[in-house]
Amino acid sequence: MQGNNSLRLWAGVSAVAIVAVAAAIMAPAAIAEEVKTSKSVEWEDILNDEKTTGDVVHWGMGIRNHRYSELTQVNDSNVKNMKAVWSFSFGDEKQRGQETQALVHDGVIYVTASYSRAFALDAKTGKKLWSYQARLPDDIRPCCDVVNRGGALYKNLFFMGTLDAGMVALDKNTGKVVWKEKFGDHTAGYTMTGAPSIVKDQKTGKVLLIHGSSGDEFGVVGQLFARDPMTGEEIWMRPFVEGHMGRLNGEASSHTGDPKAPSWPNKKDGSKREAWNHGGGAPWQTATFDVKTNTIVVGTGNPAPWNTWYRSGLDGNWKDYDSLYTSGQAYLEPSTGEMVGFFQHTPNDAWDFSGNNPITLFDMKQPDGSVVRAGAHADRNGYFFVTKLDELTKRDGKISKQAGGAFGIYPFVPDISWATGWDLKTGRPMEVAGQRPPPPAEGEKKGESIKVTPNFLGGTNWMPMAYSQETGLFYIPANHWTEDYWTENVTYKKGAAYLGQGFRIKRQFDTHVGALTAIDPATGKIVWTHKEAMPLWAGALVTKGNLVFTGTSDGYVKAFNAKTGEELWKFQTGSGVVSQPVTWEMDGKQYIGISSGYGGAVPLWGGDMADMTKQVSQGGSFWVFGLPKELASAN
Ligand code: CA
Ligand code: CA
Repeated sequence: MQGNNSLRLWAGVSAVAIVAVAAAIMAPAAIAEEVKTSKSVEWEDILNDEKTTGDVVHWGMGIRNHRYSELTQVNDSNVKNMKAVWSFSFGDEKQRGQETQALVHDGVIYVTASYSRAFALDAKTGKKLWSYQARLPDDIRPCCDVVNRGGALYKNLFFMGTLDAGMVALDKNTGKVVWKEKFGDHTAGYTMTGAPSIVKDQKTGKVLLIHGSSGDEFGVVGQLFARDPMTGEEIWMRPFVEGHMGRLNGEASSHTGDPKAPSWPNKKDGSKREAWNHGGGAPWQTATFDVKTNTIVVGTGNPAPWNTWYRSGLDGNWKDYDSLYTSGQAYLEPSTGEMVGFFQHTPNDAWDFSGNNPITLFDMKQPDGSVVRAGAHADRNGYFFVTKLDELTKRDGKISKQAGGAFGIYPFVPDISWATGWDLKTGRPMEVAGQRPPPPAEGEKKGESIKVTPNFLGGTNWMPMAYSQETGLFYIPANHWTEDYWTENVTYKKGAAYLGQGFRIKRQFDTHVGALTAIDPATGKIVWTHKEAMPLWAGALVTKGNLVFTGTSDGYVKAFNAKTGEELWKFQTGSGVVSQPVTWEMDGKQYIGISSGYGGAVPLWGGDMADMTKQVSQGGSFWVFGLPKELASAN
């Protein structure tokens, strides 16, 4: 089943990529119709992004990823009157998943699109100022659609990752390439879909461009990079498989964790050492930044291969092999790229749960009224992690902060089958016996199939949640679904899928799959759930106007009451919405912006859910919404 899914994806990508290359030869790469010079983006603009309502200059609407705006012009009483202001088509045949988050600065919208494209648009009219399309080779290997999740801005540059394992900097006024760096071999599966981020090392005063890599399904070794944003030069690289060597200023720096990598089967286990060489852990989502302790925070991907027995002892012992530093949250020193803390969400992850979703940094009001510094992360494994930021950022020479590293770990989806809960003292899950799918019997190619909830696409997936500083709640775009899951034998082959697992995704309930879920981080209480027939795959945005925004697979942009979950407004965009909404104010008026265009992992890997989404039209466009003039000024 997995084999069929993969083949279908690679075939599709190659065919369309060939068309893309042909189009790139015929058309100029960047068309500057009118050069609009916008203001330079400084570190202070990025640092204050969370509070400044006139712009969105960083992914997550700020370096802590709150996705919260203090704007109230559009609110729970008038959102029903909101209308589309303009829409822009990304054009071409490249209408696949649009998972991006736009940036808005000085009257210009910067938005990326599928197949490593970028557009600068006049924020008032939607008129195109320039466009960019990376010339992609036809043998790129993105696992889960040719998506791009957004860019970064600094000074006069716009940065984005490309599917051929590259990072590119464009002049933000013209779209012309200023520098481009390859960071990995795309034929081995290295690729880039996540948005980079900008941090300022508080120790040295240096501003850094931080980005990760993708490719765990091909057995890459996941790496995080810091670059000089102006030149693209690498400053450091940190791999996330224990025992691999990092780099600083072009030279070997230090091993990640213990050089002997005791959390992976060692050499005397013979062929099982193969996994360590290709162990995954790719940080393919965007890092957040804790200014107070000068710490970069990033989620790490699943270990490779998915098959747990290839990462366990020959006697089947998995308990002593956690596959560090995969499927967890990592804390790093910006000057050197050294890891200072790590909390694992799924030790020896047997289910491709990964740990990538951004760790949102926030001040949590506890039931006793005290306020603590915390990190929040909704994991594909179905649990919502509220971790101790001061503990995890401590420079105490101890990387693993498992014991005592969390305030609380709560289920946010029903009927989780693989663990009954967490022991907060040890920081480890209470696993259910039999939920690691058994290896194939002697002479068999496949193991016995078991049922696992949530499935590998997760209780949530890449789509970022939002945190309201007003309600104190997190809003998670979640899914309720399950899977049949079985092991298969696997051997590493460069450029081929490295899973050792087969699966079929199934529905858990007759009524719904998607479940927008509001959760209280201090208690783990689920305050409300809004159910959707189809899977949710878009990020969330919350405003002081008591509104939560997200998109749905059947084409709607929707607004909900942040306190009650009541649906207050929707607009049909004509294709599925799987991107990240933003809001900003311009000339006294509040706008909401979001991309439309269906794709992502569900149609490619989603089994029964992929069949369900076949009816969704493809697309590629950016939409802007606002209140009619008389209503906006009446407020
Ligand atoms: Ca801002
Ligand atoms: Ca994965």
